Amino acid sequence: MGIAAEALPLDGPLDGGRENASVVVEPLEAGRARFPRDFFEHEGGKLAAYSALLGRADDEAYLDVPVPAYLVRHPTAGALLVDTGLHPSIASDPSHNLGRRAAGWYSLEHGRDVTSQLRERGLGPGDIEVVVLTHLHIDHASAISEFPESTFVLSGPEWEAATGARIPLLGGYRRAHFDHAVDYRTVDFDGDGIESYGSFGRTFDLFGDGSVRLAFTPGHSAGHCSVLLRLPRRDFVVLADVSYTWRQLQGGPEPLRPQDRHNWRRSLHEAQAYIRAYPYALVVPGHDPEFWQKLDARYEK
Ligand SMILES: [Zn+2]
Repeated sequence: MGIAAEALPLDGPLDGGRENASVVVEPLEAGRARFPRDFFEHEGGKLAAYSALLGRADDEAYLDVPVPAYLVRHPTAGALLVDTGLHPSIASDPSHNLGRRAAGWYSLEHGRDVTSQLRERGLGPGDIEVVVLTHLHIDHASAISEFPESTFVLSGPEWEAATGARIPLLGGYRRAHFDHAVDYRTVDFDGDGIESYGSFGRTFDLFGDGSVRLAFTPGHSAGHCSVLLRLPRRDFVVLADVSYTWRQLQGGPEPLRPQDRHNWRRSLHEAQAYIRAYPYALVVPGHDPEFWQKLDARYEK
């Protein structure tokens, strides 16, 4: 089954950049996910045996984690989002957007979807010029349809993997989330204009001014990207699902089933080297409940 949506390659930076620009970042909690603990941080057969021995309650086998999105304000390019969070309809009817199988994994309070949170800040969906998608997994792509006028930027391999999947849910995708006639632009990380930045081997400078970079960090999914955002005094790194938690980033238990474990480890090592080289950077893992709770509402320095 094909999809109707099309993506065009992004050949160069988007308009709107300004030399030495820095951005303001607001982390937004765009829902919650309930993931099996072992899927998240796989501690091997031992834990499973241990859990069985203790007859652990079902609830302890799950982690309740945030579904993040980020509002980024650029001085000349306008407002951007990194990921879309959960669709507003999930607050009342999860299976409509997520499908029956995935409906039980996610929850959203009324008024806590990204569009509502933007409205509280005086922004409509039409004010979001660009949405950078770290990848197309359900909890990142669920609300693409809320931003019909935005330009969506993601990696070519992620687009290919998600749109070409025979059974999307097995790869963490849901076709209805991204099969919309919006302006998709894919970045070719083997193409011109790709440069290293810090320890990240392949990055794309979105506005050509160094303020927003997509770093190719595949492995969690086929074309996963992290996003490097330049605050005035340090970088804010949306690592996304290269590492679910800070503990994992520090060499803790690996996830149960990354799309490609070899690539995943390479991407993780790039992130670890980045933290060693830039200890003052703020590097945010993908779904760490404790880490998320400690974040400020707004970063402008
Ligand atoms: Zn993911």
